[in-house]
Amino acid sequence: MKGASLLVPIAKRLEGKVALITGGGSGIGESTARLFARHGAKVMIADVQDQLGQSICEDIKSDQNHTVSYIHCDVTSEADVKNAVDSAVKNYGKLDVMFSNAGILGSSDPRISTFDYDNFKRVFDVNVYGSFLAAKHAARVMTPARRGSILFTASAVSVSYGMACHVYTASKNAIVGLAKNLGVELGQYGIRINCISPFGVATPLAREGLQGLDVEKFEEMISASANLIGPVLKADDIAEAALYLASDESKYVSGMNLVVDGGYSTTNVSLKMTMKRFLP
Ligand code: NAD
Repeated sequence: MKGASLLVPIAKRLEGKVALITGGGSGIGESTARLFARHGAKVMIADVQDQLGQSICEDIKSDQNHTVSYIHCDVTSEADVKNAVDSAVKNYGKLDVMFSNAGILGSSDPRISTFDYDNFKRVFDVNVYGSFLAAKHAARVMTPARRGSILFTASAVSVSYGMACHVYTASKNAIVGLAKNLGVELGQYGIRINCISPFGVATPLAREGLQGLDVEKFEEMISASANLIGPVLKADDIAEAALYLASDESKYVSGMNLVVDGGYSTTNVSLKMTMKRFLP
């Protein structure tokens, strides 16, 4: 309509909810913190990059006075994870959503012959043990409330193989296994457990695995390998998946691994491509 404002107010899908986001200082976690806050959630960002996490908090707060805070939390430390959960409850009264998203890639060497225990341990400590701790302490406060949503960032490497190194791939598959098993135990208390599995998003973690490839080139590379042509996958798209799984719109969804890969894992075009070489 002529003269009408183009700014349509958004429905706040997380109004009244409290969310804790590990690895919220960068990439997917940062985008999710921004989106959750815009949707009315009180958000606590937990990360080890204190300066970055705090500055993101200030930035989110300055945008319409959202309720968001930062806490230092190394997900491999049980004391830190317990403290983050307890602080969310102390500051905001409860915990509705735990987004266990912190992760590292580790060595990007794809060969089993160079398998290195220190790298294995570091990747499993952050990605898997960190997820166990996030679930343990979220469940501790969600169980008496008889509700809650625990989300894990797994990866498209949980459904498509050969894209990343073995240790990272194994760690992300472990997260999916943990989530599905937890769903059985915690479903009894009304707690939903789900995973999100992104394809390549140009974050510091993903670019580090490719010698710091710049954002534009990274996105071009991912788009060129994608099944779905047109859209470019961004951290915001993963945040939208997290928003759905955190909100009551998904109130009967549990045990799911929501793969955000534009259908990549459903395809294998190698025969089609090879046929071109063999057909007259
Ligand atoms: P990112 O590097 O932008 O963010 C990761 C965050 O985790 C950083 O802020 C980092 O400081 C934090 N972190 C690392 N170790 C930590 C620890 N011990 N304790 C607390 N925080 C810690 O990368 P991202 O891509 O946004 O990664 C988020 C998640 O997404 C990871 O679990 C990653 O494995 C997963 N993932 C990413 C992609 C991708 O292509 N970017 C694809 C699939 C899955």
